[in-house]
Amino acid sequence: ALEVRQARKRFGDHEVLKGIDLTVKAGEVISIIGPSGSGKTSLIRTLNGLETLDGGEVLLHGKPFLGSPGAGAQAGPGERILDIGMVFQSFNLFPHKTVLQNVMLAPAYHRRGSTGALRCEALVLLNKVGMLDHAHKYPHQLSGGQQQRVAIARALAMRPSIMLFDEPTSALDPELVAEVLKVVETLAREGMTMLIVTHEMGFAFKVSDRVVFMEAGRVLLDAPPAEVLGSADPRVKDFLSHVH
Ligand code: ATP
Repeated sequence: ALEVRQARKRFGDHEVLKGIDLTVKAGEVISIIGPSGSGKTSLIRTLNGLETLDGGEVLLHGKPFLGSPGAGAQAGPGERILDIGMVFQSFNLFPHKTVLQNVMLAPAYHRRGSTGALRCEALVLLNKVGMLDHAHKYPHQLSGGQQQRVAIARALAMRPSIMLFDEPTSALDPELVAEVLKVVETLAREGMTMLIVTHEMGFAFKVSDRVVFMEAGRVLLDAPPAEVLGSADPRVKDFLSHVH
């Protein structure tokens, strides 16, 4: 579904992505792990069009989707960005909208169906993330874990073909992490295609088809969980020994 080819990104003199290759096929769940500053967040922000690429390209469903500026038709994501759902570390709900309005806003803006149908679909999604009872509350009335579950429902409301998660639990108090991971795990079981940057190793190794280990702007390892866990590479071993 999503193909990253030799993606490069620099901030000033600092090259944070040094030629990343990565493929996420339909139905796959892939976690990106690695030390702080290795470029995980930069990669996922690039895939969502929040940062531009300095080199390489990204294909979505086999067609050019993102490229470096100057690459003509590939310079911007256009309408197809709507096919990608994004969940941020910091929830980013609209503070003056209710939970239900937050979930309905994007589909309504893009006129995907009647208000009644959109409302119905939003309520189904809120039920799925366990937030139906809170549909008429405002974000500030919710815990971080609840806000993040609403943010997941909001992303799903556009019926994306792939969901990107940027450290979805790292801004949460420890006791709220599990409720969010449970929702992500349910999506995984239902076959949602997902790319997840996470520091939750137990979760990553449990739900992922593949785990991608990034270090200093490169993919060091891209393999099934068992293989990454058993890796003899000292950098991988060292990282895992510190986070477990
Ligand atoms: P962490 O696990 O700590 O979130 P990460 O692997 O997600 O780290 P990134 O957030 O992608 O790493 O950061 C990679 C490098 O790029 C870091 O050195 C960071 O300081 C730098 N960086 C990220 N965004 C910017 C920016 N907008 N301007 C300048 N430098 C940036």
